[in-house]
Amino acid sequence: MHTVTLNNGVRMPQLGFGVGRVPGDAARSAVETALATGYRSIDTAARYGNETEVGQAIAESGLSRENLFVTTKLWKDDQGYDDALRAFDASLERLGLEYVDLYLIHWPAENPRLHTDSWRALRRLNSEGRIRAAGLSNFTAAQIDGLVDATGFTPAVNQIELHPYLSQEYTRMAAVPRRVRIEAWSPLGQGKDLLDDPVLGEIAAKHGRSPAQVVLRWHLQVGTIAIPKSVTPSRIRENFAVFDFGLDGEDLERVRLLNQDRHCGVDPATYARRAAAAR
Ligand code: NAD
Repeated sequence: MHTVTLNNGVRMPQLGFGVGRVPGDAARSAVETALATGYRSIDTAARYGNETEVGQAIAESGLSRENLFVTTKLWKDDQGYDDALRAFDASLERLGLEYVDLYLIHWPAENPRLHTDSWRALRRLNSEGRIRAAGLSNFTAAQIDGLVDATGFTPAVNQIELHPYLSQEYTRMAAVPRRVRIEAWSPLGQGKDLLDDPVLGEIAAKHGRSPAQVVLRWHLQVGTIAIPKSVTPSRIRENFAVFDFGLDGEDLERVRLLNQDRHCGVDPATYARRAAAAR
């Protein structure tokens, strides 16, 4: 299992399994398959409504807790110091766990004071050992700087949309001096036209792999953490079979040139501008 070391020394698997928008029973069965396949990192969120079933699949796996890495997230409606602490307790109870490995603020709040208060709550949870690492999702570099200036507490991770059509080179570079690890959501571009791209098809044929495997291998080699989703057992296994081949320099350059700055989901920069305009 490839791991990355976060800025507080915690090790996190570089390839995990996402269950965004997967309904409870399907999430339980998908997580069971993922854990049996070898995934050890699961990405859920209060917003996904499946923490209970994810927790059941974890409990039933029989795997020891210290060999698993569980991420969940604080939803927008629960921002603020006390609300964040309450929301965390509720997530932990639904998951049936005593701690989570990574807790993320899912989206910035419209009023930055609110997510700064949430961030202070996450710092407290971290110092109490109830979360092993604290992070953000969908924050711009400027928003991260604002939080660190206000609290002196640096996020371990920023989880953002990232795939070959949205390669986020600037954001990845900006994260390095800030010691923030970039984690890719929608790492497969949500399985849309990205996976039909002829360049990826050619690279896949060259290595005898699928386009999805080429994209996940690209994530591993450029250093992002990736959390692909699937509810199809054969794809769950396919997406994990990426540790026994490598892309060469030419492949990496061809994938780099695919960038179109194209979002599948909401662009956090647009979101931040709208929030600023609304204030
Ligand atoms: P993804 O890029 O992982 O794509 C998933 C889709 O790709 C699947 O539904 C399926 O249609 C297809 N697919 C998967 N494996 C395939 C394969 N081997 N071959 C062909 N098609 C395949 O997209 P996602 O689900 O949006 O993102 C992954 C995870 O990221 C989510 O489950 C969630 O955990 C997280 N996420 C976080 C945020 C956030 O705001 N923090 C937003 C979106 C997603």
